[in-house]
Amino acid sequence: MNVKRFVKPNVYSLQAYQAKDIPCRVKLDANESPYGFMDAYKAVRSVRTNRYPDPAAQTLKNSVSKEAGMKPGNILQGNGSDELIYYLITTFGGPVLYPVPTFSMYGIITQALGEKKVEVPLDKDFDLDEKGMLMEIRRKKPRLIFLSSPNNPTGNCFSSQTILKIIESTSSTSLVIVDEAYQPFASSKGFIPMLGDYKNLLIMRTLSKMGLAGLRVGFLIADEEVIGHVNKVRLPFNLNALSQAAAIEILKDKKALKKNIRLIVSERGKLFSELSKIAGITPYPSEANFILFGVEDADGVFNGLLKNGVLVRNMKGVGGGCLRVTVGTPDENRIFIRALKLILKNSPLVKADKGG
Ligand SMILES: *Cc1c(COP(=O)(O)O)cnc(C)c1O
Repeated sequence: MNVKRFVKPNVYSLQAYQAKDIPCRVKLDANESPYGFMDAYKAVRSVRTNRYPDPAAQTLKNSVSKEAGMKPGNILQGNGSDELIYYLITTFGGPVLYPVPTFSMYGIITQALGEKKVEVPLDKDFDLDEKGMLMEIRRKKPRLIFLSSPNNPTGNCFSSQTILKIIESTSSTSLVIVDEAYQPFASSKGFIPMLGDYKNLLIMRTLSKMGLAGLRVGFLIADEEVIGHVNKVRLPFNLNALSQAAAIEILKDKKALKKNIRLIVSERGKLFSELSKIAGITPYPSEANFILFGVEDADGVFNGLLKNGVLVRNMKGVGGGCLRVTVGTPDENRIFIRALKLILKNSPLVKADKGG
């Protein structure tokens, strides 16, 4: 049997998401937190494995809605925010517009569901190209617009004025999803306070970057009517009982969550200043838990780091060759910087540069 003939063309041409498990000593490739939460284990002990989980994840939604200053009806739970992206595109369809470079799942899921992608390049400062965005919105009439702010992989927040302009100019034509996966690490407040003003504004949050990536817990926060429609395509038991119990427990201790975030933000500052001092490295300012940096020979440096036990993410095609490093523990960051310096010192490219 020729299986190929049975695969839908949009799926056939799709590349599976690259989540390779490369063994390494220092893992700084996936924007995970270096700090986990042992309290999760206490909570899951009372979970009854023979029963289905709460399909509404009510206790968890209550806790999140209180934190966000919203009602539980404004929250939808996802198996990570990845699943919520799937649900949004399933519910509303395309075209789906997003700036590039950005989080790859917007494009992958759009294609998986057979919808049309509209990609608009960011400007030279990695901010939204306001004119270009508004023009493509007029021309392609997207039903959904995804804005990751802070943006992965560039690390910056987009101009809030431009985001607002996009939301206002599409108030009757598009839904605008501001993906705030990294908002806890940013200096600005984010867009949750604006939710009451704009029915077409939706916000995604996740626990993944805050030390709970293994649980797969994300949230959509939006107008109650919007949530109601997306909820119709949600699989009834999408959030398993262990994850619900652990997340409820960990969200009780806001102090511990905040402490970890402060630690990472402070380490990010140190890491940035160390990177800035290295010849041949151009780090970009970050409001997230990672730093993107330009380097002459991105492939060579990536492989060199890996030989030294340090795994980062190779962002091919971004800004003429970039690597993305997650902020780790002080020790992990030191090992990374030491390895990077060593590699660049021995790199013929860098030497050639200096010699002219
Ligand atoms: C990591 C990431 C997510 C994925 O979050 P999950 O909740 O783990 O699915 C969503 N958006 C952006 C921009 C991310 O970088």
